[in-house]
Amino acid sequence: MTLAQPPTEAARPEQLQWRNRFLELGPAHYTALGPQPLPQPHWVATSADCARLLGLPADWARRSDWNALDVMAGNALWPGMQPLASVYSGHQFGVWAGQLGDGRALLLGELQTPSGTLELQLKGAGMTPYSRRADGRAVLRSSIREFLCSEAMHALGIPTTRALAVVGSPLPVRREAVETAAVVCRVAPSFLRFGHFEHFAHTAGDTDALRRLVDFTLAHHYPELLREPQPVLALLHAVSERTARLLAQWQSVGFCHGVMNTDNMSMLGLTIDYGPFGFLDAFDPGHICNHSDDRGRYAWNRQPQVALWNLHALAHGLMPLIGDGEAAIEVLKPYAEVFAQAMTAAWRAKLGLLEAREEDRALADDLLRLMATDRADFTITFRRLAGFSSAPGAVNASVRDLFIDRAAFDAWALRYAERLRVEAAIDAERALRMNRINPKFVLRNHLAQAAIQRAQEGDFTEVQRLMKVLARPFDEQPEHAADAGFPPDWASQLEVSCSS
Ligand code: AMP
Ligand code: MG
Repeated sequence: MTLAQPPTEAARPEQLQWRNRFLELGPAHYTALGPQPLPQPHWVATSADCARLLGLPADWARRSDWNALDVMAGNALWPGMQPLASVYSGHQFGVWAGQLGDGRALLLGELQTPSGTLELQLKGAGMTPYSRRADGRAVLRSSIREFLCSEAMHALGIPTTRALAVVGSPLPVRREAVETAAVVCRVAPSFLRFGHFEHFAHTAGDTDALRRLVDFTLAHHYPELLREPQPVLALLHAVSERTARLLAQWQSVGFCHGVMNTDNMSMLGLTIDYGPFGFLDAFDPGHICNHSDDRGRYAWNRQPQVALWNLHALAHGLMPLIGDGEAAIEVLKPYAEVFAQAMTAAWRAKLGLLEAREEDRALADDLLRLMATDRADFTITFRRLAGFSSAPGAVNASVRDLFIDRAAFDAWALRYAERLRVEAAIDAERALRMNRINPKFVLRNHLAQAAIQRAQEGDFTEVQRLMKVLARPFDEQPEHAADAGFPPDWASQLEVSCSS
């Protein structure tokens, strides 16, 4: 085993190396402006793991020479930061919404880090020319949700934007009720969305600007595609493959994004823009996590199809450069197959199977059907399945008890045991394997809610504690068993909407 090189740290903020390549795109793509001051900022939480990724010193948040609280609040800049808000458009709930853009986000700059170039973005840092009729702010509640889930998804091994810090402020912000403001610092190789590309085809009709954006994306994020005979088609294909794989990963942990508008779809296949997301509790394939989504467009079982719809919107945006509509449609055809293969592989892994067999998909689908009928808890069912004994006559009470129709479960269990014997699986080894795939801890709404409630009362310890638990989602952590239990009854009453 080789040990990873420890990242080289910047001792002082002046040593951070910024490159601000986005500025080269020109004024059609962004407006340069600074953050609006945030009164009386205070720390809510920081991610040590994300700080390490950036090559910041371990005590960056506390050191007076870093002035980190003011920078994270948008009250100061580190030397070399050149903030800007970018413009994009998009389809929201299947309808063309016209120009949107960074209405409350600011790109601070692109940092050269031991892990490559990473952008830092403040979300909730005040109004920009793209704020439309909104206030440019984010509330503490939604900022904590975004912070916790970004870091939790990363720990689950799912591609995502990261979060470095959340700061809060007494500044009142009006949503359904008056809440207080917060700013999240997000980190990603790029925050480019499908909507950035749709913008220049639909709203701006500016093919030169679109060309510059595509060349920029290829050069900085997909350089290997520049060798392809048709790099724009190759880009569309690459994005569709990453999206297909991402969606299989979402489905496999029961993640519901909640607002899969095209402006919330990453060009790098990352999970981006955490709003009214949720993790499945009692399994309902049609679960709608976003209270504002009355038609269930973004229900859990519709996500893979919606992602493909979004990819078609991206293709449409790229059409001025592709020209050939048939070719673009052709390039998106493999999406279904890539998704299906990734999904089948994911279910197989969740069942602890090593060999690939024809009947595996049916075995997984039938389990999901039983889970749906009996509303078995998604995370707990798969986690308990690790302890399944394939020995003849084993009762497997801990999993069986999750089902109402015990006879149906027993029939499935016989098939599963038989399937395990076919590949001569050793139960103990399979259990270890499954526990590295099926998380024990996910950010259920009620866990986030409890941390938010405490934070709203001025106690941020629960946010930090929860982050640490979710950083090790596959470990037993018996001292945190309560975070892995069934959700309390009040959890089903929680309503999470687009309001953030
Ligand atoms: P979202 O639904 O959060 O993905 O946001 C959709 C669009 O509305 C994006 O362009 C956001 O920047 C913008 N937006 C959302 N909330 C605000 C806000 N409070 N102030 C300004 N712009 C916002
Ligand atoms: Mg968004």
